[in-house]
Amino acid sequence: MSDSDPGSRNSDSERGALLRAMPSVDECVRALVRDGRTAGLGRAYVTLMVRRAQSAMRAAIMAGNGAPARTPDAIPDALARMALEAIAADASVMRPVVNATGIVIHTNLGRALLAEAAIEAVVAAARAPINLEYDLERGARGDRDSIVEADLCALTGAEAATVVNNNAAAVMLALNSLAAGREVIVSRGELIEIGGSFRIPDVMERAGVRLREVGTTNRTHPDDYERAIGPDTALLLKVHPSNYRVVGFTAEVAIGELAAIGARHGIDVVEDLGAGALADLAAYGLPREPVVADRIAAGAALVTFSGDKLLGGPQSGLIVGRRGLLEKLKANPLKRALRCDKLTIAALDATLRLYARTEDLSAAIPTLRYLSRTVGELEMLAARARPLLAERLGPHFDITIVASQAEVGSGSMPNEKLESRALRVTHPTLSAGAIAAMFRKGRPAVIGRISGDAFILDLRTVDEPAALAVDLAIPFDVTAPKS
Ligand SMILES: *Cc1c(COP(=O)(O)O)cnc(C)c1O
Repeated sequence: MSDSDPGSRNSDSERGALLRAMPSVDECVRALVRDGRTAGLGRAYVTLMVRRAQSAMRAAIMAGNGAPARTPDAIPDALARMALEAIAADASVMRPVVNATGIVIHTNLGRALLAEAAIEAVVAAARAPINLEYDLERGARGDRDSIVEADLCALTGAEAATVVNNNAAAVMLALNSLAAGREVIVSRGELIEIGGSFRIPDVMERAGVRLREVGTTNRTHPDDYERAIGPDTALLLKVHPSNYRVVGFTAEVAIGELAAIGARHGIDVVEDLGAGALADLAAYGLPREPVVADRIAAGAALVTFSGDKLLGGPQSGLIVGRRGLLEKLKANPLKRALRCDKLTIAALDATLRLYARTEDLSAAIPTLRYLSRTVGELEMLAARARPLLAERLGPHFDITIVASQAEVGSGSMPNEKLESRALRVTHPTLSAGAIAAMFRKGRPAVIGRISGDAFILDLRTVDEPAALAVDLAIPFDVTAPKS
């Protein structure tokens, strides 16, 4: 743009006129309220949206590319229209998505889906007062832990139980309550980091305990623990390695043996079991994962595990074990800071009741249902989903059914792949990344994965054939392939 270009001088002065015609935020808000076009909305909110519309309009005028109004007279109406459009389009950032990633317990997508009974319990607890901490028998204050404690004990064989907001909090609370200022012995092979910046050494430091590492990365022997135990040892800690495996020349001390070593020295063993299955998953055709009850039976004094990994409940951290230890945890002020709200307790209670009372858990708990779906079922789902998606995408996308490998996710069974089926979507001119972006903008958004030049929609956690055929804005210039 140069000074000798008369067109640009004109448009400069035009811009000035358009900008000067912009009403103040206050004027615009008053006009909207007067016309009843923002009825029911708070004035502060309308003001915010008008302010946003004003800066968007100013930017559009400055950029000069298709200003929202051609003449100064039209500016006030255009600003009001932009504000109303912004209000209409203003939805929560958080919205439902379709998980076609092939990762069953996907932390970024909110982990476990709740069982219907748990969803109903959450809604009931949200809608009306409940006896969260009120003992209806005695007419006196009660304990929210008691709502889930009996089922947790029955399901794990433990004497007592408590619940906090997640397993990271459970580990922190256990260590701080039982070993603050003292030494906790851990195998070097178990000093793990899992996603979301949970690192055992850092958690221990924050819990106020001193880490005493024993053994080596790949091999730790009973003798390593025996020799490290001293007058300042408060606990032996065992940690499920979750998202990694030590393979090859390896040795670890099993929980039963570790408990025996502890017993000889009068020292308790605490185990962070991570995903912590309540039921034996082998019954559902899945790889074996440590079951909480087995660890208690083997002598762990305390076991912590997540409520929203393999258990398939709400985000929570469950702690089960000996009554004397649980009492120390409950007396710690940290417990008050980490306690769960009524919605979590309601969902957890309903989920645990299913575990305690239901024969076929895979029918009742969505996580177990997704994990145990057969390839035959997924094959049928793929065959029905493909034409529905093809109809939605039009003739220029290529969709084929392919074999795929799904995963449990969230650090559970990292080496175990679940054979699955997927729809492989390609287009002659659109990249896989562009196709993925198009699906992310769908209503609801569909999240898949990219593999080479293809966009892959894994069906393992997709509920029904039509679930992938969502409302999509297909870029008009790709509906016909370039020749
Ligand atoms: C997942 C995991 C945690 C953290 O659990 P959250 O419920 O995500 O807080 C801690 N320890 C182990 C071994 C884990 O696998």
